[in-house]
Amino acid sequence: MSQPLVIAIDGPSGSGKSSVSRAVATQLGLDYLDTGSMYRAMTWYLQNMGADLSDVSQVAQLANAQVIQPSIDPSEPGIRVAGQDVSLPIRGTEVTQGVSAVSAVPKVRDLMVNLQREIVSNSKIGIVVEGRDICSVVLPNAPVKIFITADPAARATRRAKEVDADVTTTEQNLAQRDLADSTRAVSPLEIAPDATVIDTTHMDLTDVIAKVIDLAQVYRG
Ligand code: C5P
Repeated sequence: MSQPLVIAIDGPSGSGKSSVSRAVATQLGLDYLDTGSMYRAMTWYLQNMGADLSDVSQVAQLANAQVIQPSIDPSEPGIRVAGQDVSLPIRGTEVTQGVSAVSAVPKVRDLMVNLQREIVSNSKIGIVVEGRDICSVVLPNAPVKIFITADPAARATRRAKEVDADVTTTEQNLAQRDLADSTRAVSPLEIAPDATVIDTTHMDLTDVIAKVIDLAQVYRG
């Protein structure tokens, strides 16, 4: 029997990768894993325990993968920490401002990458996995690898609309997070050499979804 299909999708915030990944998973009947939500949930967990996020050894010591429980159902995305639904609080300012520091800690990345690989290997029906290092680090052997991007102004406009915020402030925050994510020592955000790049700046969501499905169909036979 053929292996379940695995689609790896990376890209910066506001590129449209989450909407695209969820829609592709739904249309192809696959599981869906949002790895950004896992780093956000870990950040929420550490903040909730009163950890000092600037203290790398404290973060490494307190980080715990066993409490991180993401949904893999694209029709009901969300995440729990030790049973508590944190899907909403992880989108708030406090977590958003802390997540880049937490995700730069090597121990945190080790724990999350192992958990992500475990979830993927347990998927019987195939899965769409989205994040920053999926094509390069987590699933370098995925048959379908995609990097979704858009220019900074387009990303800020989309993200500001999603969270009902001011575009200029959102653009500054995104730029800060992009810089932190792409210059960190471990697994920086980068385009894997064998990934197909889709620039969504001037594309409709439906066209991007159709393009990813086209790329995936080759592997479905
Ligand atoms: O995708 P989202 O914006 O929710 O991701 C939140 C943060 O999680 C990113 O800014 C990045 O620091 C981190 N992240 C990561 N590796 C991934 C996914 C997200 O470091 N695979």
